[in-house]
Amino acid sequence: MKRFVPTTPITPQKDPWEPLYNATPPAYKLTSIEFTVTNLCNLRCEHCAVGDTLRMKDDPHLPIELILQRLDEAKHLLTLSITGGEPMYSQRTVNNVIGPILQYATDRGLRTQINSNLSLPFSRYEAVLPYIDVMHMSWNYSQPEDFHEVVYVNSPQKVSLTQAEKLYQLTMDNAKKLADAGVIVSAESMLNTRTWQKLPKIHQLIKEMGCVRHEVHPMYQSDFAKNLPVLSLPQLRESIHTLLDARDEEMWMLFGTLPFFACSQDPDDQELILRLRQSKNVTVRNDPDGRCRLNINIFTGDVTVTDFGDVGILGNIQTDTLESMFARWQNHSLNQSINCFCPNAECAGPNLLVYHSYYLNTDFKKRMALV
Ligand code: SF4
Repeated sequence: MKRFVPTTPITPQKDPWEPLYNATPPAYKLTSIEFTVTNLCNLRCEHCAVGDTLRMKDDPHLPIELILQRLDEAKHLLTLSITGGEPMYSQRTVNNVIGPILQYATDRGLRTQINSNLSLPFSRYEAVLPYIDVMHMSWNYSQPEDFHEVVYVNSPQKVSLTQAEKLYQLTMDNAKKLADAGVIVSAESMLNTRTWQKLPKIHQLIKEMGCVRHEVHPMYQSDFAKNLPVLSLPQLRESIHTLLDARDEEMWMLFGTLPFFACSQDPDDQELILRLRQSKNVTVRNDPDGRCRLNINIFTGDVTVTDFGDVGILGNIQTDTLESMFARWQNHSLNQSINCFCPNAECAGPNLLVYHSYYLNTDFKKRMALV
């Protein structure tokens, strides 16, 4: 099958979603846009960042021409991401929204990612396969029973283990087929009380699916998932060490939104940071949200720093350009409070979720990298 994405490979050394990829703080550039293209989903996962907004029917979306015009005005763009809900849930969304956005990205040479649960029939993914660089999936399961417990926990209907097993298998099969077709399948696992002691098995399954990358992020309390307990810093450190001990060194491991910083005086933090830096095919990505990326809701036109979280709305694409809203966020007092940068450590500081979860009384702007 012919693929239309750029031929330059996306690698641990060349990750265009990294906010420092093409910018030197404090002069960040708006290089990335994320679209929320649907509020529909076939699953109801307990950790879902946008679970509060999931619905049974989508509103009409804004004209695609307006959306593309706003993209045209953003001169530094490198990447586009598509999220939901489950973006591929409705064929109408695929045809009328995702298709034109991906075609635009192809014409402009932008890299693309879809965040999917990958649990729909494969034909739904085949249509977009030639146009996507990265298929990003969630994978937090060591066996079908985990899948059954996690993805239906907030479902209005009772779903049997047998039904869940079928979907678990379909998801794995879809990932394998996409990987075989040359798409970068990147599986994300969350570090939370359910997963933190199962990561080696989870990693092994991700490898079996043919994924190019395993992404690992601590889970934070936000919106829908605000009542789930977060791991302590020692638990997080332990789980990351265990995973690094067990992982396949040939697979790219991307850690994101980690609450460990090179300015920490804690020797355990420093040891972990050095290990992550020195490990083969391991990257620690600074959080793109607000540093190089904004989120557009295609129904309301509202623009936010992330598709979840409490910062509020920065503006609306019906009245504002993306660059002007990005500048608004750069000058926002909340952003200013955490907007530190240590070039030697290639660290751009915590995001708001990390700050609120673990560092409320810390002034990062008075700290400097120690390792
Ligand atoms: S950029 Fe901020 S968080 Fe990172 S090491 Fe420096 S002071 Fe610490």
